[in-house]
Formats: sequence, structure tokens, C-alpha cells
Amino acid sequence: MPSFLAALLARLLDLIFPDRCAACGSGDGLLCTACRTALRPYPPEPPPPGLDGVAIAWLYDAPVRRAVHALKYRRRRRVAGALGDALAAALPSPPPGDALMPVPLHGGRLAERGFNQSEELARRLAQHWGLPVVSTGLERVRDTGHQAGLDRRARLSNVAGAFVWRAAAPPPARVLLVDDVLTTGATLAACAEALRAAGAHEVRALALARSLAPARRIQAAHQAFIARREPPDDPASARVLQ
Ligand SMILES: [Zn+2]
Repeated sequence: MPSFLAALLARLLDLIFPDRCAACGSGDGLLCTACRTALRPYPPEPPPPGLDGVAIAWLYDAPVRRAVHALKYRRRRRVAGALGDALAAALPSPPPGDALMPVPLHGGRLAERGFNQSEELARRLAQHWGLPVVSTGLERVRDTGHQAGLDRRARLSNVAGAFVWRAAAPPPARVLLVDDVLTTGATLAACAEALRAAGAHEVRALALARSLAPARRIQAAHQAFIARREPPDDPASARVLQ
């Protein structure tokens, strides 16, 4: 089927069956039990430069990728609530912070989509954790375009100075930035810089998912390979693995 027809069909199905699973299309809720079970936890890692901490729930593969696409590109706004519920359930506790702050979209992008997916997520997380959402003050003053295909250095220069704090009062002392998908962390670092310049002391970030960096992908594949092998108490296989 041509891709535009497939996209049209998906939009139609979303209208007819608004509660079907955003990842697999089944009728068992916006994020069905099977898809929730299939979400793979993201391994803990140190925060990207410029941040005091980061919490990432899952690896960015199906089904989270499909759900995020439905939210952002097919504008299924309510999917953010389902993802927010799953994110709150996946984290043992919220990272320390005084307020949740969605990464702002540029005005043009916001007008095009009709909502900021990170703000929708932040609002659902706020209900779970009893934290305030601060969605004004931090502004994206420059449209940084699509950053896919840029490496971290290129992204850093692309987003440098793209965010400013524009409010009379300073930002909360401990900010928890909320983003949908973390890539290099350049956008979050630029937000953190603007927040610190305006008086924030600690800036942490929270994201649904992240793709594994190439080196980590190789390491994870290696670990999966080892896990599939015979148990290492068999001396022959232990030798092979060393
Ligand atoms: Zn599903």
C-alpha cells in the first residue's frame, strides 16, 4: 500500500476507534497490556553533560516508537496520558525536583501540532506525583528544525541560545525537564543552560525513551548473546565467552 494511503487509513482508524492501542492497533486501551509488557527498560546511565540527573524509562524501539509517532505525527493527544501512566509506573519514584517543566516547542511547531506532547506528558505525571507544572517562562526563541541526522556537536551548536527564561520570577530551584524522546541530550543541555542563567540550581530530565548509543548497542547485543549461550558454569562455554 502506498505510504500516503497507509497514513490516511491510520488517521481514519484513529477517528473511528479512538481507544485502540497506539502501538499495535488492538482494541485493548490506548496502550494495551501486551504492548506495555513489551516495553524494554532503558539501562541506567550517567546524565548527558549539563544535566544533574536523567531518568529514561525505555529503549526507543517498538512499541514505544509507534506510540510516540501516533502522539506526535497523528496527533492522538490522549496517547500522552497512557504513556504518562506507564512512565510513572515504570519509575520507582520521581527524580528530585520542585516542578515539572516541559521542553517547549517553537510557536510554529506548536501551531502545526495543536499541542506540546511534552506538556501533555508533564501534566499526567504531575497528577501521579503531586508536583506543579511550570509551562511558561522557558521559551524556545528559535526554531531549530529537525535535528535527525545531526551528531551531538552539530546539535549543540544548532540549539545553542535557542531557549531563554522570560518571566519576572526566577525558575524553580530544582527543575525536572520533561521530554518525549531523548537523543543526544543537546536540547536538554540548552534548556538547562537557560534555566541556570536565570537562577535554577539543579536541572534534571525525564524522558520516555532513548535509542542506545552505537557503543552501548554493541555492548547490549553482546550481553544478549551471552544470555542466550549455555550457562557459564559449563567450563567449555565459559572459555568461549572470555
Ligand atoms: Zn498494543
